[in-house]
Amino acid sequence: MVREYLLSTFDPPPQEITINQPTNSEADIRFDDLDLSQPLLDAIRREGYIHPTPIQSRAIPPALAGRDLLGCAQTGTGKTAAFALPILQYLLDNPPRRRSAIRTLVLTPTRELAAQVRESFVTYGRDTRVRSVVIFGGVGQRPQEVALRRGPEVLVATPGRLLDLMQQGIISLEHVEVFVLDEADRMLDMGFIHDIKKVVAVLPTERQTLFFSATMPNDITGLAASLLTNPVRIAVDPPESTVDRIQQGLCFVEKPDKVDLLIHTLAAPHMTRVLVFSRTKYGADKIVNKLRRAKIDAQAIHGNKSQGARTRALDAFKSGATRVLVATDIAARGIDVEEISHVVNFDLPHEPEVYIHRIGRTARAGEDGIALSFCMESERDDLTAIERLIGRHLDRIDGHPFCSDVPPPPMTVLKPQRGRGRAPSQPGRRPGPESGRPGGGRNRNRRRRPSGGGPQR
Ligand code: AMP
Repeated sequence: MVREYLLSTFDPPPQEITINQPTNSEADIRFDDLDLSQPLLDAIRREGYIHPTPIQSRAIPPALAGRDLLGCAQTGTGKTAAFALPILQYLLDNPPRRRSAIRTLVLTPTRELAAQVRESFVTYGRDTRVRSVVIFGGVGQRPQEVALRRGPEVLVATPGRLLDLMQQGIISLEHVEVFVLDEADRMLDMGFIHDIKKVVAVLPTERQTLFFSATMPNDITGLAASLLTNPVRIAVDPPESTVDRIQQGLCFVEKPDKVDLLIHTLAAPHMTRVLVFSRTKYGADKIVNKLRRAKIDAQAIHGNKSQGARTRALDAFKSGATRVLVATDIAARGIDVEEISHVVNFDLPHEPEVYIHRIGRTARAGEDGIALSFCMESERDDLTAIERLIGRHLDRIDGHPFCSDVPPPPMTVLKPQRGRGRAPSQPGRRPGPESGRPGGGRNRNRRRRPSGGGPQR
């Protein structure tokens, strides 16, 4: 019975490969094929990148040609390098016309993202003389002022602190040649629209603008239309998350029956290497004792075990000598075992993010995985939090022999996912190619005129 419901629920469905697969020709592109100079290629190689990601191979050539971009792409797609590399190339090819001018502004919604973006400029620009500075609020202004005095060509900023420093006369944006608006939809969600407008109002109108957003609802396309001139539109799918690849089952079961349900579940022969999560150390030991009594070989791993006992348990699990490892979250952090067939959440975690870490153990190296969660009545709020976080419902497994007598809760109301829309693929809202841009945009002839009078925008 248990075996049947498990097999029927978890037989892998036909695979649908839709996500982020580069086309064949894209997969063949290498960074060396892009028009980037040696210092940048060396930095890329040091990072271990060989092939550009889809957003990079589609965005870098037009960005190098000076075109505006409307990129529909999430974090995780490689979008930072998609704008940082062509910007660095531009700055290398076009020496500054005046000293200490900010030539590139990247606006991001959060300080974490700002710091990451700046880090990317440092990484990719390591062999160049391009200086970058990051500024954001919530920390003292002084060190940022000092850094700004050194005359960075690239400024990465969150809107609030940027406006502050502009109002104090510490920052001038009148010489910005390239403007990047990163994660525009998040900016709007966070209420930054007026700040963005204030910043844009002081930027030179002759500039290149690179606009990125994970989603393209109407307010974003409206903003993009007001900032971009005849942009190249690029959309890439979000990277497939681990969570999406894992089949996730859910059993409603009350506490006294949980171990029995586990024992029944483990009767399924395809449960070859099973990692069971217990919220407490004591609970982990109790589960192991009961499994052993049922003649199921299991070991526990948690903070109260000596290092030697933990290593032995882990080795036995890795070698297949022990089929079931029962772990607490903290102890499981160091576990790097491939081919875990199933993760069982014997207890649901109180923090929903922990759920994602746990189930990620069963889908290593791009494999599909199976996770099963046991939920008792008092854990139903935890379940709601998990389903909201991952944006989907776990597959309810009805009719198992230890089904809770408490009627199941209503399905969790999932937060509507803001349109995972893509940018329309048709070109420009504005008429005519390169409208208002004689010569076809900023840099069309850049390589023929490497220092020919500086930027054209
Ligand atoms: P991002 O979407 O810019 O936040 O990048 C996501 C992650 O992908 C970062 O950790 C980058 O270091 C990494 N990355 C960016 N470009 C590539 C590439 N071409 N090949 C492999 N990894 C990359």
